[in-house]
Amino acid sequence: MKCLHCDNDKFQEKYLCFTPEIKGEQIEVTAAAFACTQCQEPLMNDTQMNAFRKAAADKYRKLHNLLTSDEIIAFRSVLGMSQTAFANYLKVGEASVKRWETYYVQDVGQDEHIRLKCDEAYAEFNALEVHWKSHPPDEFSGNKRFSLELFKQVVSYLIQFAKSPLFLNKALFYVDFKHFQLYNTGITGTRYVHLEYGPCPDQYQNLIQYLIKEHVLISKGHHELKSVEKADLHVFSDSEQSVLHLIADCAKSDGGKNLLRLSHQEQAYKKTEPMQYISYQFAKKLKI
Ligand SMILES: [Zn+2]
Repeated sequence: MKCLHCDNDKFQEKYLCFTPEIKGEQIEVTAAAFACTQCQEPLMNDTQMNAFRKAAADKYRKLHNLLTSDEIIAFRSVLGMSQTAFANYLKVGEASVKRWETYYVQDVGQDEHIRLKCDEAYAEFNALEVHWKSHPPDEFSGNKRFSLELFKQVVSYLIQFAKSPLFLNKALFYVDFKHFQLYNTGITGTRYVHLEYGPCPDQYQNLIQYLIKEHVLISKGHHELKSVEKADLHVFSDSEQSVLHLIADCAKSDGGKNLLRLSHQEQAYKKTEPMQYISYQFAKKLKI
């Protein structure tokens, strides 16, 4: 091996900083290379070159919230597939899979496609989003379209007082139904379902999982959850804030036990069948 710059044949392995361009953007990455002892000109062998290209691609991916090569490999191994089988499953060429697992950055649409086909929680959440978008406001959503942002803020607020999903779900139910009773619209647009444990937001397990994944909530063990950031109540109107405070006050003393008990006595619960959506019309007879 000879230096391309000064013909010297002595090299020393070093970690050097490079700034390759990926999709028109300069990426700063440190990689192992041989440096000429005389003029410092770097030179890479095949192994170093592959590691460098992969590191640069992954740096770009992280900066743009795209799956890294290792995450793509991890998805494929969870599914127990060879690169060929994985390519067939994704309906792409095998060469694409090989490149994505190394140095070739997938585009945003391809990234979304991989997640939808490989990440169970992501796929379920996507189905939920389609569900929300394709159902116009009606009596089961409290005359509102579902707002994930408002739902997040209500959860972040109530979780201080009703710390487990069992109690939180009832507090959510009361927040939306109480506001409907007073103002003829709910707050979050959530649909509630009659479950064994009382009225619950439709798909609440997926919603909670999603909020944990998005670092809105963290699990404290023993079914308890905690909000990562303080709720931003400015996004709510005055009437919404007053209902939120009212229900929070009810949950403060006993963590929501009374709300749980009361929710089972509501017509909204007693007059609906298991697994059925609960009409907000029942809010008129709310006991709270
Ligand atoms: Zn040299």
